[in-house]
Amino acid sequence: MTTGVWILGDQLWLGQAALAQHHNPPAKTPVLLIESRQYAQQRRYHAQKLVLVWSAMRHFAAELQGAGWPVSYEIAEDFETPLRQWIQAQRITRLQVMEPSDRPFLTFLQTLDLPCDLEIMPNNHFLWSVDGFKAWASNRKSLLMESFYREGRKRFDILMAGKEPVGGQWNFDKENRQPPKGKLDTPEPLTFGPDDITQAVIAAVQQADWPTFGNLEPFHWAVTRDQARQVLDHFIHTRLTTFGPYQDAMVTGEDTMWHALLSPYLNLGLLQPLEVIDAVEKAYSERDLPLNSVEGFIRQVMGWREYMRGLYWYVDEAYFDRNFFDHDRPLPDFFWTGETEMNCLHQVINQVQRTGYGHHIQRLMILANFSLIAGLQPQAVEAWFHAVFIDAYDWVMQTNVLGMGLFADGGVLASKPYSASANYVNRMSDYCQGCRYNPKQKTGDDACPFNFFYWDFLDRHRDKLQSQGRMSFILKNLDKMKPEDLVEIRDRAANFWSP
Ligand SMILES: Cc1cc2nc3c(=O)[nH]c(=O)nc-3n(C[C@H](O)[C@H](O)[C@H](O)COP(=O)(O)OP(=O)(O)OC[C@H]3O[C@@H](n4cnc5c(N)ncnc54)[C@H](O)[C@@H]3O)c2cc1C
Ligand code: SF4
Repeated sequence: MTTGVWILGDQLWLGQAALAQHHNPPAKTPVLLIESRQYAQQRRYHAQKLVLVWSAMRHFAAELQGAGWPVSYEIAEDFETPLRQWIQAQRITRLQVMEPSDRPFLTFLQTLDLPCDLEIMPNNHFLWSVDGFKAWASNRKSLLMESFYREGRKRFDILMAGKEPVGGQWNFDKENRQPPKGKLDTPEPLTFGPDDITQAVIAAVQQADWPTFGNLEPFHWAVTRDQARQVLDHFIHTRLTTFGPYQDAMVTGEDTMWHALLSPYLNLGLLQPLEVIDAVEKAYSERDLPLNSVEGFIRQVMGWREYMRGLYWYVDEAYFDRNFFDHDRPLPDFFWTGETEMNCLHQVINQVQRTGYGHHIQRLMILANFSLIAGLQPQAVEAWFHAVFIDAYDWVMQTNVLGMGLFADGGVLASKPYSASANYVNRMSDYCQGCRYNPKQKTGDDACPFNFFYWDFLDRHRDKLQSQGRMSFILKNLDKMKPEDLVEIRDRAANFWSP
C-alpha cells in the first residue's frame, strides 16, 4: 500500500493532521501541492492574496523538499487532472487529505471519484474541533460568543488563576474603546521584501488574464512560517501593550494601528492559534503587560476566531442564503473603485486596494455598517469581502459578514445589529474631518449618508427591530423625530442612488 498526502493551500504546517503521522525521518511519503488557475478565477481575489497563498505554498514545498520529502508541485488549470496523474505515477493506493476548512472544498473532495481510497483527516488547525463546538452549542438557547469564550478559557486553561479568570474579570472591554485623540505614536509593521520565489509568483499574477482586485505591489507580507513567527514576535514586543485601548480606533493613513496583522498567517496554517495564545500569555507572565490588552487580544483569537469557525460548521446550508431584512440593493461601483465623497469609505476601500488589509473596526463599522444601513444585498456583500481581503476564506467570511456585519441571520450570532450613524465614525476616527459631508447633520444638503441611511434603516425595519430587545431605546429616539425630518430622511436615502 502506498499512501500519499495532498496538502491544500491553507494547510501549510508540518504538524497538520495528514502530514504529522508521516514525520519520522527520513519522510518517504509522497506529497502533492497544486496551484489551480481555474480556482483562482472562480471569484475575483485580491492580487496580493494570490501571491501570498502561492508563494507560501511554494516556500512550504521547498522546505519539505529540503527535509527529504518526495514533493510534487503542480501548476495546472484544475485540481483533478494533476491529482489523478500523480496518483497514477506514484501508484498511490490511499490518499490522505486534512479536512478542508471551507465547506465547498469538502464537497468537491467528497465528489471526486478517485482510483484510490480517500481518507479525510480531522482538521487540527483550530483549538476546537467541529464536533467539540457542536457539543457546546447543541441544546443552548443562545450561542453567545462570551459564553463560548469563557468555556474555552477554562477548557484550555488560558489566563486562569485556578477556576477564576486572571484579574478577577473575564472581559476588560470597557477599557478598550478609546477614541484616537491627539498625536498617536503607532508602531511600524514588520514587512518583508519579496525573494526570488515571491517575485516569480508576482510575475505570474501580473500576467494573469483574469480580473483581480487591488494593487499587486508593493508586496510586503510574510510567506514562510519563520517570517510569520517574526511577525508574532514583533507584535508582542511593539504592539501588544497598546492593542487594547485603541482596538476600535481608526486614523487616516494608519493602516494597522496596534493590530497584530496575524490573520493571513493563522488562516494559512503558518501559525497555529495555540502557539499565538501561548506566546502572548507567556509575555504577560514574564513582563508587566496590561491585562486589558492581553485579554483583549486573546479573546480575538480564542474567542471570536474559534467561535466564527465553529458556528460556520454548526449552521445548516440555508444560513448562507439568509437575508433577514430582505435587502436587495446591488453593490455600488465605488466598492470596487473607492471613488466616493464619503471619506470614511474612500479611505478604507483605498487602503484595502493597496494592501488587502483592513482592521476589524474598519471592516465592521465602516464597510459592513454602511452595507447594512444602505440595504445592500447580503450575499453580494459577502462575495465582495471575499474578493478584496487578503485573509478571506469561506469559513471566516460567511459568519463574520452575514452574521456579525449584516445581521442577515436574524440574530443567531449577534444580539442586535451592528448599525451606527456618523456619530460613531466621528467619535472613533478622524475620517469626518476630511469629509465633504457633515457628521452632525441628518437632514440638509450636507447631511452625512451614514445618518440618513441609519435612521431610514431603523424606520424601514421598525417591526423587525422591535423584537430585538436591545433596540428599544434607539427606536424611542426614532419616535421622537419630527415628522418632516423623517420624510426628508426617507427621501435622501431613496434619492442617494439616483444619478
Ligand atoms: C465583516 C467582517 C469581515 C471579516 N473578514 C475576515 C476574513 O475574511 N478573514 C479573517 O481572518 N478575519 C475576518 N474578520 C475578522 C477580523 O476583522 C480580522 O481577523 C482581523 O481584522 C485581522 O487583522 P489582525 O490580524 O490585525 O487582527 P487583530 O485585530 O490583531 O486580531 C487578532 C486576531 O484575532 C482573530 N480575530 C479577531 N476577530 C475575529 C473574527 N471576528 N473572526 C475571526 N477571527 C478573528 C484574527 O485571527 C486576528 O488575526 C472579519 C470581520 C468582519 C466584521
Ligand atoms: S461625515 Fe459621514 S461620510 Fe463623511 S467620513 Fe464622517 S461618517 Fe463618513
